Amino acid sequence: MTITLADARVVTPEGVHDGWLTIEDGRITHIGQGGAPGPGHSLGGRYVVPGFVDIHNHGGAGGSFPSGDPDQASRIAALHAEHGTTTLIASLVTATLDDIARATAALADLCEEGLLAGIHFEGPYISKARCGAHDPALLREPSVREFRELLAAGRGHVRMLTIAAELPGATDTIREAVANGVIAALGHSDADYAQTIAGIEAGAAVATHLFNAMPQLGHREPGPIAALLEDERVTVELVNDGVHVHPAMLRLAYRAAGASRTALITDAMAAAGVGDGSYGLGPLKVEVVDGVARLAGGPGAGSIAGSTLTMDVAFRRAVRELGLSLPEAAEAASLTPARVLGLADRIGSLSVGKQADLVVLTDGLEVAGVMRRGSWITEP
Ligand SMILES: [Zn+2]
Repeated sequence: MTITLADARVVTPEGVHDGWLTIEDGRITHIGQGGAPGPGHSLGGRYVVPGFVDIHNHGGAGGSFPSGDPDQASRIAALHAEHGTTTLIASLVTATLDDIARATAALADLCEEGLLAGIHFEGPYISKARCGAHDPALLREPSVREFRELLAAGRGHVRMLTIAAELPGATDTIREAVANGVIAALGHSDADYAQTIAGIEAGAAVATHLFNAMPQLGHREPGPIAALLEDERVTVELVNDGVHVHPAMLRLAYRAAGASRTALITDAMAAAGVGDGSYGLGPLKVEVVDGVARLAGGPGAGSIAGSTLTMDVAFRRAVRELGLSLPEAAEAASLTPARVLGLADRIGSLSVGKQADLVVLTDGLEVAGVMRRGSWITEP
């Protein structure tokens, strides 16, 4: 089946142009400028951007990936797909090793079905001092042996491990992750500048929500933020919801890292797409008020506990609040995270030969349509 999308403003890595594109068997086969050569589905001048790639996401639609419940996971994927996310990583949180392994095994099934693009372990190998919305009683020192068992539960679908570089055993575990094709991400960490560099040298290539759950930038103690921003090997995740990080700091980080090293993420939890109320995040209770999720009790009460963000909002804010051009925002929301996952040859940009994952946006950058692998999720 061939679909032609005409009268579009197509956002490619090269720029934005008025034109059209055709899709055959789930792939983009032509991108042209001006009027389409044949009949097509007119988009009335709306934008087409690549489907968003969210590499850090715990939930939405009332569901939570750490539950390991396939029905909840399907609901989460559907909610975020409506908001333009066509490639989704399921993030777990710190839990007992048994609970992590059980959720991982269940989510691996959904990876095999193509619903999810992989699993992310956020914890348990993170800092007690920077644990945010992770249960401090369940944190552990990194262990290669344990990590191998968790990996086995994922049957090749564990794609990312967030780890605190300063913990004993961290560098060995980072090396083990990388050797197994798992992206090592530094975060929830109390590391200083030198310890962070050691983690990067061991192979870590991502900063888990830069700024959040790590020491702040200091002019004599640069800490992890400076180390992660200045190293060309590292892609930094940013939660662009206006709550996690002040927009001025996001702009500062973006100027340092650029679109090629910035990955917009949601870090969304169950309340995304639902609204305020009481929710769970792994073993912890979270209260959402005015769209802001915070731990409801215990030693970390009041800590930010994920977001209620969706990728379309992160994209729109990147243009409006951070001043990115549309191609830059598309790079940070799609191509760069796709590159992190090693999938940039198949997804991440509107390019001939790539999978037809795309989002139709209005002038106001609101979602008007979403296509995944050539099939409409929402038809514009
Ligand atoms: Zn998270």
